[in-house]
Amino acid sequence: MKVIKIEKKEWTGGIDKSRGKYLLFGPVKESDSENEKSCVGNRSCPADSDRYIFKQLFADQFPEMGGVDTVLSPKSLIFPQTEKMLQTTLDTSVADHHIMKRVDTDYSPRAVIGIRPYDARALTLVNLNFDTEDYRDPYWCDAYEATTFIGLAVNNPSEFDFSTSMGSSPFGEEGLDVLLVDNGDEFIAKVITDKGQAFLDAAGFSKVADESAIKEIERLKAAAEKAITAKVGTGNLKRREILELHEAPFWNDIAFACINCGTCTFVCPTCWCFDIQDETKGKSSVRFRNWDSCMFPLFTLHGSGHNPRGEKVQRVRQRFMHKLKYFLDKYDQGTMCVGCGRCVQSCPVNIDIREVCNIMNSYEPER
Ligand code: SF4
Ligand code: SF4
Repeated sequence: MKVIKIEKKEWTGGIDKSRGKYLLFGPVKESDSENEKSCVGNRSCPADSDRYIFKQLFADQFPEMGGVDTVLSPKSLIFPQTEKMLQTTLDTSVADHHIMKRVDTDYSPRAVIGIRPYDARALTLVNLNFDTEDYRDPYWCDAYEATTFIGLAVNNPSEFDFSTSMGSSPFGEEGLDVLLVDNGDEFIAKVITDKGQAFLDAAGFSKVADESAIKEIERLKAAAEKAITAKVGTGNLKRREILELHEAPFWNDIAFACINCGTCTFVCPTCWCFDIQDETKGKSSVRFRNWDSCMFPLFTLHGSGHNPRGEKVQRVRQRFMHKLKYFLDKYDQGTMCVGCGRCVQSCPVNIDIREVCNIMNSYEPER
């Protein structure tokens, strides 16, 4: 394993150098006006907290590397909330009129700097859905492959972090190309893939660290994992029958307070539901893909008027069953929750997936 030492006084110079080869993205503070527009939770009021989101970093902009947690995950950089897929025109004077063609998108190399290990792992789980043996979603695959993920270890996990219960770690490496560890006046960079090495080369970060850096990573990792106090049980989910959980008596209680706002699904790094819409203007037409949510009644409404998940309790059950049972059974890669805690922090009625998971995991049906 190669480990590089990056002194913080060299950081901005290296980032600037990397702009020659990469489009850069990273966490930045929302402007005050954006804060007001996107207030979503009862536990994270913008009036008393700073909020960060992932955005493209243009000249003179640098990622915030001070250990911030972003209100939204960087999922939207690979799977945008609204994405143009196809376009056409009925104008016969234009070449290829009446033919739906893929919209040109810039997939030149990009680097996401400061992504948290649980978010990088979350993207590997979404990848299981979009990049399969039977079908490769070209929009997701092209963006995912063009991206280099430069992670930032979580030295001080928040009270909402339960990643260690869900197969992740504050210092996890899955889905990352480089893992940066904040060590005071320097970052220690663990090189995980060739893509990661290429980014460090482009930035000019090349000072090889000694053995003591590896020991320091292990010390910080152990301290961060110990600081996560939430313990969520998942060990029984696999052996439980789907129908036993589906028919369990606790769903009405869990769903009672839910207002189906969809916030939990929009902040989640592993939710991938979408809807496709065609928009026309004059002779031009564009096909869009937009994030959707299983918590919205319209999501499952059939053209016939029938809705298989017309009741709130059915939608709430679907969300938790998909995350904690269906995905687990289908892919055998753990739950479709990485324990980032965003939905816990943002739900306006305090529905807590940690509690729901514990209820599902400890449920013993009467025989
Ligand atoms: S669980 Fe909470 S965040 Fe999710 S839809 Fe219901 S009320 Fe909204
Ligand atoms: S379900 Fe909640 S805690 Fe789990 S990954 Fe999604 S937002 Fe994070």
